[in-house]
Amino acid sequence: LTPGPVNENRVRIAFQPDYMATVMTGSRPQVILFHSEASDPRWPDAIQRALPEFEVRRTLDGIPPEDVVAAVVWKHPSGMLESLSNLRLIQVLGAGVDHFLADPRLPRGVPIARLVDPGLAARMTEYVLLQTLALHRRLDETAKAQRERRWTFIHPAPPERCCVGVLGLGQLGLSCASTLSAFGFKVVGWSRSRKHRPKFDTYAGQDELAEFRRRCDVLVLLLPLTAQTCGLVDAGFLEDIREGATLINVARGALIDEAALIAALDGGRLRHAVLDVFQQEPLPADHPFWAHPRITVTPHNSSATNPDTAIGQITENIRRALSGLAPLHVVDPRAGY
Ligand code: NDP
Repeated sequence: LTPGPVNENRVRIAFQPDYMATVMTGSRPQVILFHSEASDPRWPDAIQRALPEFEVRRTLDGIPPEDVVAAVVWKHPSGMLESLSNLRLIQVLGAGVDHFLADPRLPRGVPIARLVDPGLAARMTEYVLLQTLALHRRLDETAKAQRERRWTFIHPAPPERCCVGVLGLGQLGLSCASTLSAFGFKVVGWSRSRKHRPKFDTYAGQDELAEFRRRCDVLVLLLPLTAQTCGLVDAGFLEDIREGATLINVARGALIDEAALIAALDGGRLRHAVLDVFQQEPLPADHPFWAHPRITVTPHNSSATNPDTAIGQITENIRRALSGLAPLHVVDPRAGY
């Protein structure tokens, strides 16, 4: 089939029908490896349609590893990418990369890009606005009063009396902060590096965290999970918030010390917590969060990546990486996001 010594991979390629044409003509296919068990099932076809010059494969079975030039992955098995010697881009199929960077067997020197999807930001912004309004209008207390058949009038306060603090002013945090601010809420933001925003006050770094959190009636977690942010919301943090403040976690479960959260809710310092993400997902049926009267649980569905709005970044990144340009939204593995 090919000149030179027969090698096992080549023989295997020859018996893969899809590879026959390329082997017979002497050219090598450029393969995009797709792996995700949790994302929208339309993804592989969407990528194949957008990039017809590549071959999208869902498995490495029967493919010489050196044919894979790009990998589009979400929650891949550890070591899956290790042997791909010609890999030019790893495109993570989501905004958070904590689980991805936890793989100790990643190939070295390959750029890792995360997804920045306008659809993801739009759904997240809706969710945060929805839950902030519910907390501000105290729907948790109205629902409790209804269950107890108590007519309880809660005065509808205007949004400017409510200060919403957004922790993390990245793609998602800034989108939420801008919408909340446009809706009339008083908004403050906290990030690692200093930001200047005309519409709201910003705080930066650990030194300014205490002053920031003491201002907030609603705290919205939109930080990546890194060595610095893991367990950030612990007993000390929760002792130092406003009496009766509330919290929305749409980032990662491990940002919060779960026992400390329950203690702060039971003690009354924290009035209510809306949790979309958890240390263990799915949340186990016997977990105390399910039945806690001051906790709202949603099943990590505040937002999700959508092929219709995110395919553009993926095609652009693969084309960029293969033509020697820097991909968009590259992750800094040392910072962890
Ligand atoms: P970005 O990387 O765009 O923004 C992250 C922000 O967090 C930046 O403002 C960054 O600061 C700040 N930050 C990082 N580390 C620290 C620190 N140690 N102290 C203070 N601020 C810090 O991320 P996105 O906005 O795109 O996403 C945020 C997170 O949301 C993701 O990492 C993911 O975990 C989660 N997520 C959850 C989803 C869900 O369905 N629930 C969906 C999508 C994402 P700086 O600007 O200075 O770099």
